[in-house]
Amino acid sequence: RTEEPWRDFNSSRVYMADLESALHYSLRVELALQSVINGQALTALKDYISVLAKYFPGRPVVMNLLKSLNTWLQNQNKGPISYEAFRERVDNTAQVPDAALPEGVRWVGCQGSQPHFRRYPCGVWTLFHVLTVQANNIGDSDPKEVLKAMRNYIHNFFGCRYCAQHFENMAREGLDVVTSLPSAVLWLWYRHNRVNNRIAGDLSEDPFFPKIQWPSPEMCPSCHTVKDNGEHSWNEAQVIPFLGSHFSSSRILTDYLE
Ligand code: FAD
Repeated sequence: RTEEPWRDFNSSRVYMADLESALHYSLRVELALQSVINGQALTALKDYISVLAKYFPGRPVVMNLLKSLNTWLQNQNKGPISYEAFRERVDNTAQVPDAALPEGVRWVGCQGSQPHFRRYPCGVWTLFHVLTVQANNIGDSDPKEVLKAMRNYIHNFFGCRYCAQHFENMAREGLDVVTSLPSAVLWLWYRHNRVNNRIAGDLSEDPFFPKIQWPSPEMCPSCHTVKDNGEHSWNEAQVIPFLGSHFSSSRILTDYLE
């Protein structure tokens, strides 16, 4: 296997190359492990693609692909679909004009110091943070729509099965608190920090990218406060606009795209 070249990046920014790489890996590698998709898994796939078609802040050519894939998938009412049929739509063999999802991965902000670090799981987190922020900006949907789609995608398809189990436990105990679109953005941020806390220092941690309670005080000074008793606490009123800006479509960098 030839080593990929290192791509310089700014760790306080989000890159479209990571989001497209996550989509490629999810739709062409992870889902390919299912030869037939049926029942609860098919519903999960429909909800995931629907959320992508609505909120993914992609290039026009990628959005055309996601929308045509979504239209086709939502019309599959007669039970099981084969992965092969799904894949033909992902690869646009129907030749919908100006619609494509680039092949292959080009990790940028999600590069790891070794090939087994970061990459796809980092891309998945980034993708779903972006989607909750986009849904909040658009502002007219069920507050739980994106999180439910994420929960069911992870539960049915995410390759790291113990990660999926942990995430399912968190979702089961906590999604009720999500009653507004900003609270969905906060829910995912807060749970992601719980995961960071739980796995900090594990063998899976890239030593060049240590797990922290994110964002750091350097990235967002006003997100952090100190209580009277000296304990750290988050200033959620500041965290929401920080997340809104960090993951906003207008700030996503397009370096290294094909
Ligand atoms: P990641 O945690 O993947 O984060 C990606 C980027 O998001 C960071 O670089 C940072 O810019 C930003 N970020 C970090 N924290 C936050 C936050 N709180 N809110 C918003 N943005 C943030 N691994 C395990 O070993 N055990 C598990 O149980 C486990 N469960 C997982 C569950 C899910 C749903 C997913 C998607 C992944 C899980 N993983 C688990 C993988 C793990 O969380 C990391 O994705 C992986 O270790 C790569 O870490 P990373 O350094 O790239 O940062």
